[in-house]
Amino acid sequence: MVLADLGKRINGAVNNALSNTSDDYAVNVDTMLKAIVTALLESDVNIALVSRLRNNIKSKLMAQKPASGSTNAQTKKLIQKTVFDELCNLVDCDVKEPFNPKKKQCNVIMFVGLQGSGKTTSCTKLAVYYQKRGFKVGLVCADTFRAGAFDQLKQNAIKARIPFYGSYTETDPVQVADEGIKKFKKEKFEIIIVDTSGRHRQEEALFQEMIEISHVVKPNQTIMVLDASIGQAAEQQSKAFKDSSDFGAIILTKMDGHAKGGGAISAVAATHTPIIFIGTGEHVHDFEKFSPKSFVSKLLGIGDIESLMEQIQTVSNEEDTKAVMENIQQGKFTLLDFKKQMQTIMKMGPLSNIAQMIPGMSNMMNQVGEDEASSKMKRMIYVLDSMTKEELDSDGRIFIEQPSRMIRVAKGSGTSVFEIEGILMQQRMFASMAQSAKAGGAGAGGMPGAG
Ligand code: GDP
Repeated sequence: MVLADLGKRINGAVNNALSNTSDDYAVNVDTMLKAIVTALLESDVNIALVSRLRNNIKSKLMAQKPASGSTNAQTKKLIQKTVFDELCNLVDCDVKEPFNPKKKQCNVIMFVGLQGSGKTTSCTKLAVYYQKRGFKVGLVCADTFRAGAFDQLKQNAIKARIPFYGSYTETDPVQVADEGIKKFKKEKFEIIIVDTSGRHRQEEALFQEMIEISHVVKPNQTIMVLDASIGQAAEQQSKAFKDSSDFGAIILTKMDGHAKGGGAISAVAATHTPIIFIGTGEHVHDFEKFSPKSFVSKLLGIGDIESLMEQIQTVSNEEDTKAVMENIQQGKFTLLDFKKQMQTIMKMGPLSNIAQMIPGMSNMMNQVGEDEASSKMKRMIYVLDSMTKEELDSDGRIFIEQPSRMIRVAKGSGTSVFEIEGILMQQRMFASMAQSAKAGGAGAGGMPGAG
C-alpha cells in the first residue's frame, strides 16, 4: 500500500505527543518532531524539505501554545491540523488546476518520459479517465523507436475501447504524429493523446526528436511520466526533460509499491510542476487524481472523500453518482448513499487501493488483509440490504432511537448488532466528511480512524 508505513509512523508520533509523556508541551512537540523527521527521511523525502517542515511545525506550535487550561481535545486538534497542513505544503507546488480540457474543442496532450516509466500505460489510463467523463478521446502512437510499442498501445486501446492511430511501416515519428492528429481533428475528437518514444536515458538525438514532434503536435498540454521508484532522482530527471520539452504536468507511476514515492513526490514538488495523477497499479483504473490534500489525507488514514468521489465517477453509473454528489453538496450522507458507495467500491478492483480513501477502512485493511476485508464488505451489503427504505433514506439515527430495528436487521442479514453498530459508525464518519467537504475543508477537520 502506498507509503502506508510512513503514514502509520507519523500518526504514531502525533498520538504519542498527545498521550502526554511529559508535562512539558515543548518537550512533547520535540519528541513528536524527531519521530516524524526520522520517518520522512527513511521514506526518502528530501532532507532540506524535511528540515523546513520541522521548523515550520515547531514555530507554529510554539506560537500557538495552548493556554494552561486548554483541554486535551483542543491540543490534539491544534497538533493534528498543523502536521496535516505542513505535510500538504511539503507535496504542494502551488500550481492550481494545471490543465482543464474543454468539450467541443480539440485538446492535444503529448506524453514524454523515459522508457519503462509507464508512459504507454498512463496514456491509456488518461484516455479512459477522460472518456468516462464524456470526452471523445483518441490515442496516437508516435513511438516508432521501440519495436512493439504500437502493438502495446493498440492492445491497451482495444481493451479500453479507445480509438487509436499508429503505423507499422512509417519510421518517422513526426510523420505518424502529424497524420494521427490530422485524422482525429477531422473527426472532431476532443482529446488526442500522443505517446512519444521513451528515452533510455537523456540522449541528445532523442530529445531533439521530442522537440520536433512537439513542433508538429503543438500540444495544449505536455505531460511527463515519472517512475516513483527512482526516489529523489526524480528532480534531476524532471529538470532534464523540462529543458527540452517544457512539460506542464507530471504523472507519477508505480506508487503502489515503493516507499521511495516520498522522495519522488517531494523532489517533484521542488521543481514547481504539479503532479496531476498517480499510477497505483497496472490496471487501467489504478489511476488517481493527485491533490496534496487528498494525498496527505490518505497517507494519514483520514479518509478522502474527494478522491473517492473521483474514483467512483469512473466506474459507477451517472445517476447514482449524481444523487450521492447532490446529497454530499448539501452536507448529507444517508445509509442509502453509503450502500451505493460500498457496492461501487466492490466493483473498483483491489480493495487496498480504495480502502485508504475511506475513513475507518485503512485500519480494517491493516488488521485483516484484502480477502477478509472484502468478505466484511459483503456482509455490510447484506446488512444494508436488510434495511427498509425509511431506514436507508435516514442518517442512521433511527436505529439509535429504536434499537429493536438493529435486532431485526441483524436477524435478517445473518449478522450481529455489533456489526450493525460498526456500519452505522462508518456511515457517520462519511457523513461528517461530507459536512466538512461542504464547508470546503475535506480531510482537514480531524483524523478519525487514524492509522
Ligand atoms: P513505457 O515504456 O514508458 O511506455 O512503459 P509501459 O507503459 O510499457 O510500462 C512499463 C511497465 O510498468 C509495464 O509492465 C506496466 O504494466 C508497468 N506499470 C505502468 N504503470 C504502473 C503503475 O502505476 N504501477 C505498476 N505496478 N506498474 C505499472
